[in-house]
Amino acid sequence: GAMRNLPYFCRGEVVKGFGRGSKQLGIPTANFSEQVVESFPSDIPTGIYYGWACVGNGDVHKMVLSIGWNPFYKNIKKSVETHIIHTFKEDFYGEILSIVITGYIRPEKNFDSVDALILAIQEDIEEAKRQLDLPEHLKLKEDNFFHLPEGKIVNNH
Ligand code: ADP
Ligand code: MG
Repeated sequence: GAMRNLPYFCRGEVVKGFGRGSKQLGIPTANFSEQVVESFPSDIPTGIYYGWACVGNGDVHKMVLSIGWNPFYKNIKKSVETHIIHTFKEDFYGEILSIVITGYIRPEKNFDSVDALILAIQEDIEEAKRQLDLPEHLKLKEDNFFHLPEGKIVNNH
């Protein structure tokens, strides 16, 4: 199932997304490039995940992540978007985002309204926060992966 590939380590540049207005909803999502997404296991299920994230050499924060279908490629390619549970002073397009995906929350869903979508994401964030405080997930926050030289691409180390 979804857990087979986890924990999954990934590093890559933050690129412009689809301008779907995530930031306007208060939940900006840092998008990985197509190349980084292509490096993911092809059988990793779409849905909502949680884990740890760090921008450049910055602090490691909790995150929720969506693996979904990429509208730019008629939904035949995946997209990977990370919402870091932290308030940043500035955008960080072009910076290196390092993540470790540690757990799975739920499959993708369609929502009847923007309010229902926001509510679901807020619940995902609360679930992620709770799960990440458990020892088996918390230990990955301290992983050496987050202390390697910037720019080095390492998957599934
Ligand atoms: P895009 O469609 O370009 O991905 P978004 O509305 O999803 O636009 O905003 C994503 C951008 O917001 C990220 O690339 C990053 O530079 C910035 N950002 C600021 N705070 C956060 C955060 N907490 N989590 C993720 N991205 C953030
Ligand atoms: Mg985005």
